[in-house]
Amino acid sequence: MRLKIAIQKKGRLSEQSLSLLRECGIRISNGGKLKAEASNFPVDVLYLRDDDIPQYVADGVADVGILGENVVLEKEKQVRVEEKLGFGKCRLSLAVRREESYNGPSWFNGKKIASTYPVILNNYLRGQGINAAIEEISGSVEIAPGIGLADGVCDIVSTGSTLLMNGLREVETILHSEAVLISNPGLRGEKQTILSRLRFRIQAVQNARQNKYILLNAPDEALDTICALLPGMKSPTILPLAEKGWSSVHSVVKEDTFWEVIDGLRRAGAQGILVCPIEKMFL
Ligand code: ATP
Ligand code: ZN
Repeated sequence: MRLKIAIQKKGRLSEQSLSLLRECGIRISNGGKLKAEASNFPVDVLYLRDDDIPQYVADGVADVGILGENVVLEKEKQVRVEEKLGFGKCRLSLAVRREESYNGPSWFNGKKIASTYPVILNNYLRGQGINAAIEEISGSVEIAPGIGLADGVCDIVSTGSTLLMNGLREVETILHSEAVLISNPGLRGEKQTILSRLRFRIQAVQNARQNKYILLNAPDEALDTICALLPGMKSPTILPLAEKGWSSVHSVVKEDTFWEVIDGLRRAGAQGILVCPIEKMFL
């Protein structure tokens, strides 16, 4: 029995989806165009357009898939979100021409909005009690106001530079998105077991990416302050140095807070601080 996993064939998520599987120790031959088999783990990879992945997973053509949460929400298929994957981060936003005097969501009343996300946009507008027309288009949404097709756009933004280049201004964020692992809700037995093994590996990779291993030297009188700054997995490891009155402290720090932690450690008297990447981390 093998688990069929759908990933984006060619696009922003392709490379990082493959890297994630590779970091999970899954070796995928790069031969096939449509399908590839892993040689050392019971999964087959299907390369698809991201828009088709929810349907294929819901139908059981694929068992699981990796794609943007934005697409999952837009397609409204019967799939389960198993895991957030921490890459492909973006937001779905509303934007208007730079020169518009925008005064809040009600500005869109009676206006026309171009989007490739009609379902999410419609839900948002209904929730806000706004009556606007949706012009569904399949690409290059950002040019719609410039050519007179719409008054505003609802589109995926990461840096905002595409909007800026087209004379648009982001005015509302409808949702934040990142790549997710989805599954067919009916998975049972052996396939469910393979999925659990895959998720266990994904979590280890994710934890490793989000944490750093830190080593430092500290005078013994500063150890209490320093340990309070380092929660670690259980508690820091403290080893005496050859030099009397000094210790070596080892711990794990979160990637997103480690600059603040390091500032605090230096103030507390830590020296020779080393920060190393973690290859895998099992909690
Ligand atoms: P496909 O040909 O597979 O249909 P696509 O053109 O629909 O590809 P991409 O542009 O490759 O899709 O984007 C895939 C996903 O990457 C998006 O659905 C979104 O979740 C995420 N993403 C992250 N940053 C951005 C961005 N700046 N613009 C568009 N998508 C982004
Ligand atoms: Zn697509």
